[in-house]
Amino acid sequence: MRLSRNSRVRSRARERADLLIVNADELVTLAGGNERPRIGKQLRELGIVRDGCVAIKDGKIAAVGKTADVRNVFKAETVISANGKTVMPGFVNAHTHLVFAGSREDEFQMRVEGAYYLEILSAGGGILRTVRETRKASVDKLVDLGMGSLDVMLEYGTTTAEAKSGYGLATRDELKLLEVVKRLNQMHSVDVVSTFLGAHAVPPEFKGDARGYVELVVAEMIPKVAEKKLAEFCDVFCEKGVFSLEQTRHVLTAGRSHGLRSKVHADEMSTLGGAELAADVGAVSADHLLFASDDGLKAMAAKGVVGVLLPAAAFSLMNGRFADARKMVDVGVPVALGSDFSPSCMVESMQLVVAFACHLMRLTPAEAVAAATINAAHAVGRASEIGSLEVGKKADVLVLDAPNHKFLGYHFGANLVDKVIKNGRLVVDHEAKQNEPVFLKEAEMPP
Ligand SMILES: [Zn+2]
Repeated sequence: MRLSRNSRVRSRARERADLLIVNADELVTLAGGNERPRIGKQLRELGIVRDGCVAIKDGKIAAVGKTADVRNVFKAETVISANGKTVMPGFVNAHTHLVFAGSREDEFQMRVEGAYYLEILSAGGGILRTVRETRKASVDKLVDLGMGSLDVMLEYGTTTAEAKSGYGLATRDELKLLEVVKRLNQMHSVDVVSTFLGAHAVPPEFKGDARGYVELVVAEMIPKVAEKKLAEFCDVFCEKGVFSLEQTRHVLTAGRSHGLRSKVHADEMSTLGGAELAADVGAVSADHLLFASDDGLKAMAAKGVVGVLLPAAAFSLMNGRFADARKMVDVGVPVALGSDFSPSCMVESMQLVVAFACHLMRLTPAEAVAAATINAAHAVGRASEIGSLEVGKKADVLVLDAPNHKFLGYHFGANLVDKVIKNGRLVVDHEAKQNEPVFLKEAEMPP
């Protein structure tokens, strides 16, 4: 009785929220010190609250803390119990090639049997094959395919994904892909951050004339992309036999002069100096980095360039090599994670990426979680809005069917996501689905 009197007093004073998530075994906030991407020991500081609670109002986070404390201030008609569960920010996938048509499962088999990625590319396969299929596809078809991929990403807990063009490689087709990215961002719950990657490969029309193609990218594509405001970032596949350091610098400089911030596919298959270049041009991120030199990593650390690690991509190359994530953490490179979702790396799940980062790169689960949330948000220029659970940020929240964040590396292959809340709205609820019949009895089968 005493309790009910207290709660009446309390309810009069309490502010109304739209949604409360209460009693989380582990509330992973990643709060504090997020003006810069996390480095070194900061990567392990997840800001965990036991018996945690998040209050959500108008699509934003209104309060974060102990359940009792938040409930003293907020009430809501919709209350989700996270008892026995982990609550954390939605995953940010910092690197995808989301928009393409066709598939390359036969090349996958060739790689299993020993073919090398760059050999397939130089024989007109790989990226160039996807370019042929993507050029033929309509905007509607590409939107359809992209929506399907985003559905899977969301189911597995990704609430923001970067997406690159790069399977058009002609002005009209590159603009088409970026229009698709724009439509996907408008249509899907997942927020999509647009990157222009016209310099992804040399198209057949310019075979043997990378220089000529780079001129087209610089003189025609970049100005049009900027004029139509179709991208925030400009990226280049800087690699031996693809685009040189000098060509990469030329494209990124042109991009910057049109307001596009720089990203680089750097040192993925050879030590070319992509990491050094990324630091030198002040890129937001350098991605892949399997073969980055020590000097390159130190230069990135000095300039705060985010190292976007793509363990699923390295895994799918099948040469047993991975970026040296431990060295990067040691020298102070801020590390982030992405899936590199593409026709050669068909991975939508950031949970699998986190598990790979732990198993194959020896990031701890805490480091991998920070890399897949707040640091990935830095890598896509969104750290003031997403990537942590802090008052005023977007309410992009996951409820995991696991008692703590370590399960993300430990229990891999399954989908640990129980619920996804995007902009304050419940968009995925696996708990609700569990009550639906999964198997039809013979009598219920259609004739
Ligand atoms: Zn890539």
